Amino acid sequence: REPIIAIDGPAGAGKSTVARQVANHLGLVYLDTGAMYRAIAWLVLEQGIAIDDDCAVAELATRCKIELTPGQSLQSPVKVQINDIDVTEKIRTVEITSLVSAIAAQSAVRQALVQQQQSWGQRGGLVAEGRDIGTHVFPDAEVKIFLTASVGERARRRHQDFQARNQNQVSLEQLERDIAERDLKDSTRKISPLQKAADAIEVETDGLTASEVAAQIINHYQR
Ligand code: C5P
Repeated sequence: REPIIAIDGPAGAGKSTVARQVANHLGLVYLDTGAMYRAIAWLVLEQGIAIDDDCAVAELATRCKIELTPGQSLQSPVKVQINDIDVTEKIRTVEITSLVSAIAAQSAVRQALVQQQQSWGQRGGLVAEGRDIGTHVFPDAEVKIFLTASVGERARRRHQDFQARNQNQVSLEQLERDIAERDLKDSTRKISPLQKAADAIEVETDGLTASEVAAQIINHYQR
């Protein structure tokens, strides 16, 4: 199969931007696994299902159809659809962000999504980004990267993202709290928590631009 590059790390470490640049440069497909968990969270909310109703959430996750379509350019977002509904923008709200970790901690949800991710990766040729890609989804990936940055830096990046989308109602302090809380939930859950794979290369990204980080990853890949 074609090679797979796995990029994991905490919220706001710059995984999406970097993964997209790497995929674009190397002619590989970009897979945003966080978008899949967010889409499920959106549908749970939309259907009025209680987040802790494991059975109903499991049924929804097992039956739903998720589609990811690459954007037209490097700047345009990947189009995310669940059951044919375009949720590209809808999954990026503060509300979904605060609820997604609780959904992603449920075993049936992970089982359903990991299975899809692995089937998309069967022939390789992917840059897959998430929390458990190097440890669980593609443990045999050719290159594994663990991206980190300080909480302050990650909150600043998220703040800029919000401003770019004209949603600047969230304060930097609030974003810092949200990020720290989500990291804690993602790294302490029972099933495939956020964790650096033993053979992953850690890249600390404070003070680096996305292009600089992408260049480092491409360099590791070409070695
Ligand atoms: O990367 P993003 O912030 O979009 O991910 C949203 C959430 O989805 C994470 O906070 C985490 O709870 C979950 N997630 C996960 N495993 C992945 C990708 C995302 O549990 N591989």
